Amino acid sequence: MRGRFAPSPTGALHLGNLRTALVSWLQARAADGEWLVRMEDLDLATASAAHEADQLASLAALGMHHDGPVVRQSERFPLYRDAIATLQQQGRVYECFCTRREIREAAQAPHGVQPDGAYPGTCRALTTAQRATHAAAGRRPALRLRTDGERFMVADLIAGPYEGGVDDVVLQRNDGVPAYNLAVVVDDALQGVSHVVRGDDLLSSTPRQRLLQQLLGLPAPVYAHVPLVLAPDGSRLAKRHGAVTLAQLAERGLAATEVLARLGASLGLCAPTDRVTAAELAAGFDIGTVPREPWWLRDTDL
Ligand code: GLU
Repeated sequence: MRGRFAPSPTGALHLGNLRTALVSWLQARAADGEWLVRMEDLDLATASAAHEADQLASLAALGMHHDGPVVRQSERFPLYRDAIATLQQQGRVYECFCTRREIREAAQAPHGVQPDGAYPGTCRALTTAQRATHAAAGRRPALRLRTDGERFMVADLIAGPYEGGVDDVVLQRNDGVPAYNLAVVVDDALQGVSHVVRGDDLLSSTPRQRLLQQLLGLPAPVYAHVPLVLAPDGSRLAKRHGAVTLAQLAERGLAATEVLARLGASLGLCAPTDRVTAAELAAGFDIGTVPREPWWLRDTDL
């Protein structure tokens, strides 16, 4: 059993990220498995070494120590390009010249078949002449996966059975940067990750990743999607909501053991007023008991 936490180093980890990391760490440690950290720093415009160091310090402060070196996606572009080449050989890749705005305007109403933000397929059948016209106008293409209405069932350890469709997901952005869905599939396989724990905002992308695994001949890990943490106003937790990062919580006088107790209490593992270590929470941890509802913080929590 090998788990991993794969944050994007674009800011400090907040209670939501830390809770997901904790679930992953507890799952791995309770099974005597390994736990890796991978920095998903594909987007060099937003990722930074300072954020990476800060995130690693937060994990260490809470006792979530990782095995092996930290892997950075920014150092692995050739691996992702190889995977795209494999898909190209299968006739599964096409050029897409759409701008974000064009995609938004053409987006189909959700009809339950395709995942969130599904691409409507505008550039699927461009002729050579049309592609040349776009290129002559200075537009650089992104690369997309040619899908065929595939559907996948994912047996999620927290969400339960989830079935969903796929869309023509981006494999490489039009600035040449490999895309998340491709990189995550390549890395989880190459790193031998058997168990993926992450936020449930990515549940609807899992069928996309299952298709990529199938096409690339890669094994599928076991998935567990952790419900998000919500702010008192019901929106997804963010730093602006108050004391949500470890540094902000420390300013309020909370020790790491107290932060862990709050996280542990949200998972039904201890009382919020306890003082616990991550290792103490790991004893007998069963991921199947993670609540299926979001953890909704109150004003007094922040
Ligand atoms: N890098 C993604 C995030 O920070 C997580 C991707 C994953 O765990 O598959 O939301």
